[in-house]
Amino acid sequence: MNGLMMDYPLTVTSLMRHVNAQHGASEVYSLTVENPAHRTRYAEIFRRCAQLANALRRLGLKPGDRVATLAWNDYRHMELYYGVSCMGGVLHTVNPRLFPEQLRYIINHAGDRYLFADPLLLPLLEKLHPAFPAVERYVLLCGKGALPESSVPSLISYEELIEGEDDNYDWPELDENTASSMCYTSGTTGNPKGVLYSHRSTVLHTYASGLSDIIGLKSTDIVLPVVPMFHANAWGVVYCAPMVGSKLVLPGPKAGDPEALVAMMNAERVNTALGVPTVWMGLLSYLDASGQRLETVSKLVVGGAACPRSMMEDFETRHGIEVCHAWGMTEMSPLGSVNAPTAGSADLDAGALLAQRLTQGRAPYGVEMRLVDDNGEALPRDGKAVGRLQVRGPWVASRYYRAEESALDNGWFDTGDVASIDSNGFMNITDRTKDLIKSGGEWISSIELEDVAMSHPAVGEAAVIAMPHEKWAERPLLIVRLKDGAAADADELIAWFEGKVAKWWIPDAVRFANELPHTATGKVSKLKLREQFIA
Ligand code: AMP
Repeated sequence: MNGLMMDYPLTVTSLMRHVNAQHGASEVYSLTVENPAHRTRYAEIFRRCAQLANALRRLGLKPGDRVATLAWNDYRHMELYYGVSCMGGVLHTVNPRLFPEQLRYIINHAGDRYLFADPLLLPLLEKLHPAFPAVERYVLLCGKGALPESSVPSLISYEELIEGEDDNYDWPELDENTASSMCYTSGTTGNPKGVLYSHRSTVLHTYASGLSDIIGLKSTDIVLPVVPMFHANAWGVVYCAPMVGSKLVLPGPKAGDPEALVAMMNAERVNTALGVPTVWMGLLSYLDASGQRLETVSKLVVGGAACPRSMMEDFETRHGIEVCHAWGMTEMSPLGSVNAPTAGSADLDAGALLAQRLTQGRAPYGVEMRLVDDNGEALPRDGKAVGRLQVRGPWVASRYYRAEESALDNGWFDTGDVASIDSNGFMNITDRTKDLIKSGGEWISSIELEDVAMSHPAVGEAAVIAMPHEKWAERPLLIVRLKDGAAADADELIAWFEGKVAKWWIPDAVRFANELPHTATGKVSKLKLREQFIA
């Protein structure tokens, strides 16, 4: 017997209707190239979404057509998020920091028909547009008067595009499985792969991210996603904050500028901010050097790479800001797990509690996790067994865009991460499959070694990679960027590991670098380090 409840499709359009009805007056602050303090409200954003949809219809956008953005976090990007998806198009957010060759591949592979770009990225477009034969129209995210002379064909400003358009749009009733947006990931080997989100997956992910033990936003919160809107939906915040009515603070092109971030956070009274560890490390150094404080921030959500212990301790003990560690991936929309205490956490001593809080946390309802060994046999959740982490759920990818084959292994998505899970569900990533170091047949966790290195007062950034070894097959090599003005030699750094990890884990050698290479999403690029140091 079937239930007799309404068949109400879970669409971004229904989310937009809800936000309009309940939270239309909540504010959205953006910093843009043209305006250091642009203020609008959700209702106004959605009014302009209708104008955008009318303009795109005039240009000939058909259901399922891909619309690319090369843009920072601001209100116009948000209008594209809702306007394109709700009219039945697919918003393709592209990371402007990718290499030209990757951009060429991604934009052509996705078959983008329209491309919207931030004015700061115009020089990039001018160089690359001949490589995008399928793009019919380029739009610069600026006002009419701010559109510069350019060699990009048919370039128009966003404001001119939507000007004069009707601010009503007859939003279609979409099937909830309709594609809403897409994002390519270069996390795996080979060419970047397209992850195609649906309205349903987006709505369910939004619900889950709102849970108290996940991101837990409320209408009184003021939220700053430093995590970019071009990377995995800014961790869903651009949907979740409106859903509950939180004010959004969008840093535009200043996401990598700690001074601007601190000023914005204090002026707009931000209480929750989200970003990768590199951003928070930079911010911490800026706070230390300038003597400034974050006056209203109470919670930082850290994900995208392992949260260093020293960073969690510094923010919590010296700045009184709770650090919340989260894990996910583009293929998971991206939320996979978040660290929040259980009732039993209160019984742990300080050391055990910190160790628990540094894990990647627990999965919300909607993400099932399991560990398997190399033969695909399930491993116990005992906090000790380490294996490949696999996941499944309604916001996990099943196949990549235009791929012939499923991305699944017996119904599960293999994350490429290596982890343990304890009996309470706390998941601890020890490595990525391809970053593991296998010494004398035994695994060494590069993440753990990096964490110890980062706790040394002179170390600004650290990475550990496997170096080929005649006897042991592989041994760990530590690569370090020292803090400005700090000094430490290799012997001192190696001695720092003694008593903190097993003796045979201690790196054999240390190399110093003025800078560590980063991927386009701000993570240390081990691929480049291997090219550079393991010649
Ligand atoms: P991306 O799809 O670019 O977001 O990358 C996802 C990958 O980043 C994951 O598979 C992990 O390897 C890594 N990652 C994300 N969050 C964390 C975290 N909190 N700790 C360790 N690794 C992480």
